[in-house]
Amino acid sequence: MVMLVSACSRVPITKRKQVNLLPESELMSMSLTSYRDFLKSNPPVNNTAEATMVKNVGQKISTAVSHYMNQNGQGKRIQGYAWEFNLVNSPEANAWCMSGGKVVVYKGLLPLTLDEAGLAIVMGHEVAHAVARHGNERMSQQLIAAGIGIGLDLGTAQQNPQVRNILLSSYGVGSTLGVLAYSRTHETEADKMGLIFAAMAGYDPQVAVAFWQRMSSKGGAKPPELLSTHPSDQTRIKNLRDFMPTALKYYKKGS
Ligand SMILES: [Zn+2]
Repeated sequence: MVMLVSACSRVPITKRKQVNLLPESELMSMSLTSYRDFLKSNPPVNNTAEATMVKNVGQKISTAVSHYMNQNGQGKRIQGYAWEFNLVNSPEANAWCMSGGKVVVYKGLLPLTLDEAGLAIVMGHEVAHAVARHGNERMSQQLIAAGIGIGLDLGTAQQNPQVRNILLSSYGVGSTLGVLAYSRTHETEADKMGLIFAAMAGYDPQVAVAFWQRMSSKGGAKPPELLSTHPSDQTRIKNLRDFMPTALKYYKKGS
């Protein structure tokens, strides 16, 4: 039986102290199953210029992330990651990354990202959620809230539809309803880390400001993961601008 394990660590880049209650290895395995299921019902687009762009940008970001983590003694955090970047044919402007590096980009996002650099901003942000283990934190909280946190055997818990839904919700996967928005802390953290990941991968982080402005002007049709109520659009853009000088250091180094 897998018990809640209390593992203290620090999030890369922001150095925030975090306590992960669930074994990340179990979340990777559950995420893999959910990812396969998701792609069965939402077949990935293959061999188009757009699908290739998603894979290329993802590849560059994951290479930069691995390099950074190994250089900074945090390689263990992404141990066992088997990155995948798939584009799905959905009109929603959405994207997410599950534990283990399983990424989905929805076609409806591409008119808003405009180009490779814009896409790198979103993918950097989503990859950051996974690397920072936000899903782990969210899932622990939700399991505890649902009264099923203690002594949970995650291996068999996958049979439980409630646990499966909590997993999906924790990683921002799903349709417009019933998906929890990431907290303000998680969003701001993913924004900062994402800027650096995009910059390290060779993309100009400054395009993030215009991207979030485009998202913001999209108004009510915002998708769950990229929901901008946490933080508010204005706060987010101010935070991005404040953090830009730091992110640019990584861009100059990498280019
Ligand atoms: Zn997010």
